[in-house]
Amino acid sequence: MSRPDLIIRGQRVVLPETIAPRSVHIREERIVFVGDYDDLVEGCEVVEAGESVVMPGLVDTHVHINAPGRTEWEGFRTATLAAAAGGVTTVVDMPLNSVPPTTTLAGLFTKLETARDECFVDVGFWGGVVPGNTAELAPMFAAGVVGFKCFLVPSGVDEFEHVTEADLREAMPELARLGALLIVHAELPGPITEGDGGADYRSFLDSRPRAAENEAVELMVRLSREFDTRVHIVHLSSADAIPILRRAQAEGVKITAETCPHYLHFAAEEVPAGATEFKCCPPIRERDNREELWDGLRDGTIGLIVSDHSPCPGEMKLRESGDFMKAWGGIASLQLRLPVVWTEVRHRGFSLLDLTRWLCTNPARQVSFEPQKGSIAVGHDADLVLWNPDAQFTVTPSTLQHRHKLTPYAGEVLSGVVQQTFLRGKKITDAPLGHMLLR
Ligand SMILES: [Zn+2]
Repeated sequence: MSRPDLIIRGQRVVLPETIAPRSVHIREERIVFVGDYDDLVEGCEVVEAGESVVMPGLVDTHVHINAPGRTEWEGFRTATLAAAAGGVTTVVDMPLNSVPPTTTLAGLFTKLETARDECFVDVGFWGGVVPGNTAELAPMFAAGVVGFKCFLVPSGVDEFEHVTEADLREAMPELARLGALLIVHAELPGPITEGDGGADYRSFLDSRPRAAENEAVELMVRLSREFDTRVHIVHLSSADAIPILRRAQAEGVKITAETCPHYLHFAAEEVPAGATEFKCCPPIRERDNREELWDGLRDGTIGLIVSDHSPCPGEMKLRESGDFMKAWGGIASLQLRLPVVWTEVRHRGFSLLDLTRWLCTNPARQVSFEPQKGSIAVGHDADLVLWNPDAQFTVTPSTLQHRHKLTPYAGEVLSGVVQQTFLRGKKITDAPLGHMLLR
């Protein structure tokens, strides 16, 4: 065995099947050996994690970085610094809100140019399916996007148009031919109403009912089955769609789903009037819905929890008028995903193994980074987070690295304090050493 450059050891190292005292040996950016706690090599530097948890670096496959073009909303530097501070070592950037969007090969190249040398963690890229861009899908996939996103309702920005069933009937055979994953913002316009406007959260919630999601999921099950295309439902909020997904999965339809920390932590009943920092689409729903989402995670129907970090300048949240219908929808939480989910997980009887599956392993698998990311195993990149599961902290917006600090988590007391994040064997400091991950 060749000599390691660094050993990280601790009493609670989260391995794929167990949590145990181990030493993780790292050489040339990779994990080369996972030994007993006392397996040290004379003269080799050792990081002692003690009682802290040593977990794979988190993988977040749903992040809106918004650059180039809307860099005032976020940007690669601030987003990846926030990721690192939250124990995240891989993010995958969404194809919209940047100008140009990642819906053409040229758009992807512009994106790569913008991201290069700006990233503190590794970054992958989604492409987009919009009306009329089917010919761009194969070149983008060949150039390395991890898959493609589409919207079934207006996305909120003009340059990323939503698709209809007719558009999907054109794109999905091509995606099946490529073996590419289609990820879907699953709300259909039919059941969505204009609402009454104003600061009442209930009225906003009623304007985007569960039916919009349920019908969209039904459509995607039907199309996935018909075209044999892999489909993934992003940010599932309606728990009523879980039985639809469960049945389809049991029948062999290639459909998966994710949900987000805000749907698992907050409840509609508790959103204060005018608190537009809670606005996202689909919306945060009722307490009983939240508990059913946890049931969907428990039985595996929902496989991953990702941030859907979607920030904007504070003024776009219209905090003064508190108008939920007009405010920008999106919650910024890239840095807080680990403590928010852990806070919920620990009092529901789940383990660190469940947490790791939802935050690391399954997201890595979803975008085919699994041989490299998402587990502490020989051959994987030495992406690791050391954190204290028992320490608590109060969320103070000024400590967030996101470009904009407005967050519904302000003042929340959360469990789980990130201490150190390692990217490919190097502690993340002030050098942007992130790679562009092209599939
Ligand atoms: Zn999103």
